[in-house]
Amino acid sequence: MASEVTQLHFLLIPLMSQSHIIPLTDFAKLLAQRGVVVSIITTPLNYIRYKASIQHALESGLTIQMLPLEFPGGQVGLPPGCENMDSAASVDLAWDLMLASEILKSPLEEMIEKLDPSPSCIISTSALPWTQQVADNFKIPRYIFETVSCFTLLCAHKLSQARIQETEISDSESFLVPDIPHRVEFTKAQLPAREYSDRVKSFVEQIGKTMLSARGAVVNSFEELEPWYVEGCRKERQRLWCIGPVSLCNKNLAEKSDRGDKASIDEQYCMSWLDSREPRSVIYACFGSLSRISAAQIKEIGLGLEASNCPFIWIIRSLDSSAEVEKWLAEEKFEQRIEGRGLIIRGWAPQVLILSHPSVGGFLTHCGWNSTLEGISAGVPMITWPMCAEQFYNEKFIVDVLKIGLRIGFEVCAVAEQSNALVKWDQVKKSIEKFMDDRDDEGRDRRRRAQKFGEMAKAALEQGGSSYLNITLLIQDVMQACK
Ligand code: UDP
Repeated sequence: MASEVTQLHFLLIPLMSQSHIIPLTDFAKLLAQRGVVVSIITTPLNYIRYKASIQHALESGLTIQMLPLEFPGGQVGLPPGCENMDSAASVDLAWDLMLASEILKSPLEEMIEKLDPSPSCIISTSALPWTQQVADNFKIPRYIFETVSCFTLLCAHKLSQARIQETEISDSESFLVPDIPHRVEFTKAQLPAREYSDRVKSFVEQIGKTMLSARGAVVNSFEELEPWYVEGCRKERQRLWCIGPVSLCNKNLAEKSDRGDKASIDEQYCMSWLDSREPRSVIYACFGSLSRISAAQIKEIGLGLEASNCPFIWIIRSLDSSAEVEKWLAEEKFEQRIEGRGLIIRGWAPQVLILSHPSVGGFLTHCGWNSTLEGISAGVPMITWPMCAEQFYNEKFIVDVLKIGLRIGFEVCAVAEQSNALVKWDQVKKSIEKFMDDRDDEGRDRRRRAQKFGEMAKAALEQGGSSYLNITLLIQDVMQACK
């Protein structure tokens, strides 16, 4: 472990969601490996969920701590226990939680007064605009931790410049993203909603303003993955460093498995199940921590996986497991039917551990950016099933730019609780069969390219690699700002 600096203290503040806390915790480890003191700010219930991951870092001698701040959500109308986006029972409640995070501002300022060493900078997600005021009050720089790719940042910028949402074209008509080197087509229906309620609108405006005041940005990506888009973003924001894929900081079984919640399966059992499969034969199907999937769609996914004749691991999340789903699984004797070929994990999967196993040959994913990058890092090609938010951008990136994915064919970005559109079981089956067909040139090419990107990802984080160097540059920038 190289100790480049000792006195710096980075304060990391993630939005209260798995897809922010997990990568920021990984990034904290990468920073601490370079001799920086790192504190991650969170709330009591999140602290309980993530402390195993911090414990591994402490055991390996890293100067890292997670500091819980009381979160009086009840005062702003949140139900008890609602401290993470995945515990918000509706999209509205998730917005409430995001907006309510500002109640942490004063307790955080009180805590900062007492911290020793005093913080040198704040790194926080863009959805926490109030953290900019905290940084300003303490006269320390703030950096934004981007949880999307440079491709997404730049395409969204180009589409907003072209005012696509204001044009007359219909929801299903396609248009090209202007001024980029790849042919990337969207429909309006695939873009995240632009019409917000007044309170959300003013919050989004605040995010935009504070982005301009931030000193710089770090992106969980690596330069070799999207060089043109990284350069494009640097034209907009000079101080931008790609420092990922951060998940690759987890090296051993315990580190790979203790990310986010406790895994709902015995890791050794999961590994020996995978050991007993042929190399690159298994489909891993998981849809992240937030997307809402109807019971009808869950059934179609199950039937499609079963009919594909392919070994699979299927995650039925707590979010998915309604009384209707459980009844269907029991009545159909689904688990007995797939026994020997399919493994169902109910709850939380050790995703990075599973993806890094050589028997995994494909990832059926909702295209969240963390999952996308974790698939890329493992060298695994993907079947893309975007559902909401910026996930359609990630699908275009995987399929049209990197050419390591096959679309399932889901076309509408959900704006409400969940989409009514249904992908039928035979479409799931056909996609998996086409994807796994080794006689198919396209498929072989996809697999080769995915392996190549996996190797590039690992090289980026090794000493001398681009992300390793960018972390050095970021640390130097903080030192300069603190002079
Ligand atoms: N994840 C996991 N186990 C699960 C589901 C998700 O470890 O069963 C992790 C996954 O590895 C990723 C994060 O949760 O790091 C999900 O982030 P992503 O951006 O992919 O999707 P989101 O949760 O925002 O939809």
